[in-house]
Amino acid sequence: MRRWALFIDGRRVETESFQDVSNPSTGEIVGAMPVATAANLDAAVAAASKAFLRWKERPDSERAEACRAIARTVEANSEELARLLTLEQGKPLNGLGSRFEIGGAVAWTRHTAELALPLEVLQDGPEGRVELHRKPIGVVGSITPWNWPVMIACWHIIPAIRAGNTVIIKPSPLTPLSTIRLVELMNEALPPGVVNVVTGENEIGAQMSAHPGIAKVTFTGSSETGRKIMRSAATTLKRLTLELGGNDAGVVLPDADPKAIAEGLFWGAFINGGQTCAALKRLYVHDSLYDDVCRELTAYAKNVVVGDGLSEASTLGPVQNKRQFEVVSAFVEEAKEKGGRVLIGGDPSGGPGYFYPVTLIADVDHGCRLVDEEQFGPALPIIRYHDVEEAIAKANASSMGLGGSVWGSDLDAAKRIAGQIEAGSVWINKHGAIQPNAPFGGVKQSGFGVEFGVDGLKEFTTVQTVFC
Ligand code: NAD
Repeated sequence: MRRWALFIDGRRVETESFQDVSNPSTGEIVGAMPVATAANLDAAVAAASKAFLRWKERPDSERAEACRAIARTVEANSEELARLLTLEQGKPLNGLGSRFEIGGAVAWTRHTAELALPLEVLQDGPEGRVELHRKPIGVVGSITPWNWPVMIACWHIIPAIRAGNTVIIKPSPLTPLSTIRLVELMNEALPPGVVNVVTGENEIGAQMSAHPGIAKVTFTGSSETGRKIMRSAATTLKRLTLELGGNDAGVVLPDADPKAIAEGLFWGAFINGGQTCAALKRLYVHDSLYDDVCRELTAYAKNVVVGDGLSEASTLGPVQNKRQFEVVSAFVEEAKEKGGRVLIGGDPSGGPGYFYPVTLIADVDHGCRLVDEEQFGPALPIIRYHDVEEAIAKANASSMGLGGSVWGSDLDAAKRIAGQIEAGSVWINKHGAIQPNAPFGGVKQSGFGVEFGVDGLKEFTTVQTVFC
């Protein structure tokens, strides 16, 4: 079994202790994660602080070129990264799995490389000249979850370094290996200390959010952890971008075509086995087409192959970890007890691996956890409604506000309803279709700040106004 190392200041750093990383499809150990100490973190902060002094002074074109070089290197090593990701995360190589994730990471890196934040002249006349400059913030701490580890690492790291910051990334202890490899590859295109990785349990993330040498934390993960980070970041008033949980609603209008929307609905909900922040997690369907939508979704679900991620035939893998498997199982059991009708799935077969079948539950409503909370797994509740106002009110009856969707044939009507959904992103006749040029972020307790595009890049800068 391979023992991995941290990567700090352009070189591998061995640790004394390790923790096993296992394959969620088989339970087999796939590698040993290095467990960083507080001293390792201090060394990473010192390296990133030193590198920042030079990196922020490099010409903008040089930083853009470094990001392009990273995209080329990651692309050249994409199959190795995809296999490592499948081994530790469980997602299949094919479909919307590991190869798709690495391809997305490359596409986002390429797009971000071409973004720029030129000087803005706010005033230039007899009363004087006023210029708005965007300056990098300093050392950025990036803390990532286990669902899309490589893609989210690139969403954090690339805009941060593109804008002139340096980075220390801490991946989830459940999926750390692909991030270590990613950082090794990035370092082939960067000066030492610009991107560093420390791994370990949650404490190392807590230490990062309190560390006086880190100026900003960009975090993707649960709302609960987001609150903890906000509390510990308060002492040093760190800048924060928090991309947190979601409980996205989809509303199917009476004029939708059930057969035409079934595939989009299915993948909107079941992408990555539902372990996606902006996946469709509650579906509201009008009474007039409720049975048709249930039938079409069930028919589509029957053809989906759930299996070991390394098998080329699989389009969905296992749930990533035991804790999440237990959450999904408990939510589905409660929904059944409260009268939920299982259309498909609902009964996990038992080990090895955390396989949970694709599950559709009809005839449920608010008042059960599968609807009220984030299941983050392959089980979708389908709720019947009678008038659209009721559906909108229920869609908004959540403390979360990441994404939402409206499904119907009359686009103008769908757009009007989309405007009433309390979410950072709303899609029409699709769900979760993010792209690198469109800002993405949550409202309410799904977080604050945005990622992607020029607005996302600005999050890694502070404003300096110069009065001449
Ligand atoms: P999590 O909050 O448990 O962990 C995320 C990261 O935070 C991990 O690296 C973990 O080690 C670290 N961490 C844990 N405790 C910490 C602490 N006290 N201080 C600092 N860091 C700490 O989340 P998860 O289970 O890995 O991911 C699932 C959650 O992430 C879901 O709620 C999902 O919706 C959310 N998510 C959101 C987005 C988004 O863009 N909004 C994207 C993906 C996932």
